[in-house]
Amino acid sequence: MSAAHGPRQLAGIGMTSQRTRARMVERLREQGIRDERLLGAMGAVPRHIFVEEALASRAYEDTALPIGFGQTISQPYVVARMIEALGVTDTGARPLGKVLEVGTGCGYQAALLAQLAPDVYSVERLRALSDRARANLRGLRISNLRLVHGDGYAGLKEAAPFDSIIVAAAARAIPDALVEQLANGGRMVLPLHMPGAAREEQRLMLFERNGRTVLQTELDSVRFVPLTAGKG
Ligand code: SAH
Repeated sequence: MSAAHGPRQLAGIGMTSQRTRARMVERLREQGIRDERLLGAMGAVPRHIFVEEALASRAYEDTALPIGFGQTISQPYVVARMIEALGVTDTGARPLGKVLEVGTGCGYQAALLAQLAPDVYSVERLRALSDRARANLRGLRISNLRLVHGDGYAGLKEAAPFDSIIVAAAARAIPDALVEQLANGGRMVLPLHMPGAAREEQRLMLFERNGRTVLQTELDSVRFVPLTAGKG
């Protein structure tokens, strides 16, 4: 992202200012987010331009917000936690490489990923949201992010394999295509409904491909909108 600011950013005073964003970053640190590059990106990307103007003053609270069409932008902590799970390993930082995001939504997480990875593809099943994300992102002049209207269940064959896959909606089963499109050494984070558990229970899962084996680790308990098949 360049230093140039779109008109809505220039309007960013008071609750949408740089200082408000810095406070959000401090809170993320207190909540345990450690990756400095990620914290830097979260301090730089103007979250308020991705939510409706009436909600802009709440954009930096640690809360999920509606983005229309029954969908939500995740709370900042969850966004950070997912990206950190991809980029930080027990032995140190891991380059995100080529990234696939499933569920563009308003485009906020995609904008963050584009700050941290050389190549980002983001798939959204709802055309109206994909179009809105494109409009939200326009002023930010991001050149390494491609938005695609499609069904993320199928991944994105034409750009596979991916070093990192991040799924922003909860699946009932692990989508085979996504595992197949994970590069060797690749990582995927995905919120998964826990079988047999209470209907609402979802777990953030981390998958790591090592040759033919895929290692699974359970992370936090989370609450995401459902991953839905087909385009809309
Ligand atoms: N990362 C987003 C949050 C998106 S909410 C952000 O920063 O705003 C989850 C999104 O996943 C919704 O927009 C929903 O429409 C989308 N989604 C659900 N199922 C999908 C699928 N099969 N393929 C692509 N997108 C999907």
